[in-house]
Amino acid sequence: MTMKIGIAGYGNLGKGVECAIRHNPDLELSAVFTRREPASVTLLTPGVKVYSMNEAVSKKDSIDVMILCGGSAVDLPEQTPLLARYFNVVDSFDTHARIPRHYEAVDEAAKKGNKVGIISVGWDPGMFSLNRLYADAVLPGGHDDTFWGRGVSQGHSDAIRRIQGVKDARQYTIPVEAALEAVRSGKYTELSAREKHTRECFVVAEENADLNRIREEIVSMPYYFADYNTTVHFISEEELNRDHKGIPHGGFVIRSGKTGWEDEHSHVIEYSLKLDSNPEFTASVLTAYARAAYRLNQEGQSGCKTVFDIAPAYLSALSGDQLRGHLL
Ligand code: NAP
Repeated sequence: MTMKIGIAGYGNLGKGVECAIRHNPDLELSAVFTRREPASVTLLTPGVKVYSMNEAVSKKDSIDVMILCGGSAVDLPEQTPLLARYFNVVDSFDTHARIPRHYEAVDEAAKKGNKVGIISVGWDPGMFSLNRLYADAVLPGGHDDTFWGRGVSQGHSDAIRRIQGVKDARQYTIPVEAALEAVRSGKYTELSAREKHTRECFVVAEENADLNRIREEIVSMPYYFADYNTTVHFISEEELNRDHKGIPHGGFVIRSGKTGWEDEHSHVIEYSLKLDSNPEFTASVLTAYARAAYRLNQEGQSGCKTVFDIAPAYLSALSGDQLRGHLL
């Protein structure tokens, strides 16, 4: 029997979930829900219907897990608690500071509906969080560092686009190789934001715009750029569309720690990701956790969970026997 999946919100992540379902024969796409006019949304999967988000609750008996693919800023804080009352849900909520509040709201709704909601699933938060936890538990008293990139930061790209005279922009976050090597070598030093990452911006300016002013506004922008070494390249719209349309990302979680009576032995744990497509990879993680949400609910569990609460076997399509025989 296949597990029936619904997708709520059809942007980059929604399309990524649709692709991930194609790679998982135990999952089946049942329906897609959007706030836009359903007829304006075209899916890749033949035969699957797009419904208005307002109709979602009426489909609650034909969907095992709803994967929420809206944005973290505005959509998920509203949509996840709303839908967790009626569906097992999984979302990728990534505003780290607001996770505790989101957890409370989803927990309350999911408990009322006897459903399971797994929040903040993806790579960070998500796979990176898990690796930070495993490393911290295994090497207590050590030190960990997370580096992001090379990858596109949507938030920083948007910040550049808001500057007067900018037509379009793409911002890459890049880890500083020397900082990576220092952390990998196990020598713990406190690194500043500037020492860990650089920022590279590709900007399409409006005709006759003052390029020096735009460059100055970018590199001095508080929070976003002022604390980093930032390079700005002005390029044509054609170049931007040709060379910078992808959404790659990735990064490193590195922990070093010591063992032995006198701390005589050093250890380094490193987990890294190099992603051609941030949303497609994030969607693949969401899809694996959908399996866990369904199974936990079948066992009678309800309420909100994070990646920390899910035992790894619940993610896999393989049976316990297969896992012990092949992966252990
Ligand atoms: P996106 O493409 O902007 O989509 C967000 C929502 O916007 C969609 O669900 C869709 O909802 C609406 N939308 C999409 N295209 C539209 C269009 N042409 N016209 C009008 N509305 C449109 O965002 P995304 O790249 O999928 O990312 C979603 C969230 O994932 C991000 O906010 C981020 O927080 C999170 N994320 C998390 C991780 C992680 O590691 N945890 C990693 C990457 C991303 P409707 O269909 O209802 O209109």
